[in-house]
Amino acid sequence: MAGKIKNCPNCGKLYAEIGRKMCPDCYDKELEKEGDVIAYVREHKGAKIPEIVKETGANETMIKRLIREGRFEQVGIKMTYPCEKCGEPIITGKLCQNCQEKIRNDLQATQSKAVAAKQMAKAAAPKPQSKGKGMYSLKNR
Ligand SMILES: [Zn+2]
Ligand SMILES: [Zn+2]
Repeated sequence: MAGKIKNCPNCGKLYAEIGRKMCPDCYDKELEKEGDVIAYVREHKGAKIPEIVKETGANETMIKRLIREGRFEQVGIKMTYPCEKCGEPIITGKLCQNCQEKIRNDLQATQSKAVAAKQMAKAAAPKPQSKGKGMYSLKNR
């Protein structure tokens, strides 16, 4: 089966998609850029992402992908990027372990609260209380 013909998201050129998100030209350029980024970080240990973006012209998404893929570790460089919540250095995902756990706990807390509220509502429902509240709706008319 031949690849689908698509527009390259980078340059708009038509190309046959063969498991790549861009045309061969842009793919080559991307590879070259990756090489630039890695070379830059090798020469400037501890370089931060904004600096790398500025110096190499690579975009942040690509750099983060390289970090996730362990491309810097392959050449003996420990690269991280900040957690989106607290700024802790991380190498994968968007949040650090702590923030992930916190979110998970919060989620569980709200879920169990919701369950508790439901149970309370259920328990409260059978009580016939409608009579006493009649005056309220009258006043509000
Ligand atoms: Zn292209
Ligand atoms: Zn965090």
